[in-house]
Amino acid sequence: MWKKIRVSLLLCILLIVAVDTWRDMHQDWTKPIIVLLHPINADGQAATSQYIQQISTDDLSEMVNYLQTQSKEFRDQPIAFHFQLGRELTTLPPKFPEKKSVLNNILWSLKFRFYAWKQHQGEDGSPSVTLYLNYYDPKLQKVLKHSTALERGRIGSVNLFASRKQSSSNKVVLVHELLHTFGAKDKYDFTTGQPLYPTGYANPEQQPRYPQQRAEIMGGYIALSESKSKTPEDLEDTMISRLTAQEMGWVK
Ligand SMILES: [Zn+2]
Repeated sequence: MWKKIRVSLLLCILLIVAVDTWRDMHQDWTKPIIVLLHPINADGQAATSQYIQQISTDDLSEMVNYLQTQSKEFRDQPIAFHFQLGRELTTLPPKFPEKKSVLNNILWSLKFRFYAWKQHQGEDGSPSVTLYLNYYDPKLQKVLKHSTALERGRIGSVNLFASRKQSSSNKVVLVHELLHTFGAKDKYDFTTGQPLYPTGYANPEQQPRYPQQRAEIMGGYIALSESKSKTPEDLEDTMISRLTAQEMGWVK
């Protein structure tokens, strides 16, 4: 008797997890997409704190417009994105393992999902995606560690500069990570940082091929030559390719 109850309970939990995972991987794009952003003062600096205080919903509208305009390229109706600025958090998401291994990655993703679950306790609503924005003072931190996002769990840990001057390039990083949570794949070479040809190019057909004018958002960089590229400074310097749109299920 008890054994039967235990087994059915376990099956129930498994079913819930399976349904959740399926839902994370099959977004219904006809529904509004709620993106919740939690800023975090990652270096504990007063300047970083000041920067976080002045972030406003106006800063988010450019990303919303970008995503709506880009989605219209592939769909009759633009996708309705809504960005919400959540409360500031005091605990950083778990650090991505320095040593890459399958086990480390699994452990990290479990830790990160547990972190997200804990932070979400007592909060209303269930956003489509939650991004944790770790802000660093650019005077102290010249280079940021790589941001990471999970499709299963729909969460991302995004490292950004706490500076108005970098707010445009921050948006490029943020949108790139956001698209990862919907299943978009990187399209650049991890060792050289060069966008992959042709998938990581905004305009692979262009003659002559270089310099490219824009970056494919998951290619991450604007190719200037076969071995040189630069980072886009603004969302306007980027676009979303058909392949990336397909990976997210925007288009068949
Ligand atoms: Zn990426």
